[in-house]
Amino acid sequence: MKNCELLLRENGIKVTPQRLSIVEELYGQVHMSVDELYEAIKKKFPSISLATVYKNINAMLEKSFILEVKIPNQKSKYELAKASHSHVMCESCGKVEDITLDLHGITEMAANLTDYKINDDALVLSGICPSCKAS
Ligand SMILES: [Zn+2]
Ligand SMILES: [Zn+2]
Repeated sequence: MKNCELLLRENGIKVTPQRLSIVEELYGQVHMSVDELYEAIKKKFPSISLATVYKNINAMLEKSFILEVKIPNQKSKYELAKASHSHVMCESCGKVEDITLDLHGITEMAANLTDYKINDDALVLSGICPSCKAS
């Protein structure tokens, strides 16, 4: 708990109980949509509105303290900022997990094929997770 507070301060983000609890949720769940965060935070702060959750997320996004994981055809998920990585998403249960891939060859190929300067190589792969595959 204490170190979430410190992390927020170090990033120049004003510490509020609501923000702390968003950070704590993200520590536990890793990737959450605004709706999922709202449901979780509401348990501790029953009077909090969805708009307030959005506002807090945006404040932390601005400082790059949390990152948006854009998922095709789905609501974005949010995560605490960390080294650049890709994601796998389960089409059945919607779970999103981190995966580290070497994309150097892919971005180089994309740049060569399109003459773009590739800035963002965030990749979301989708499929069926092991537990959904088993059931
Ligand atoms: Zn699944
Ligand atoms: Zn991630």
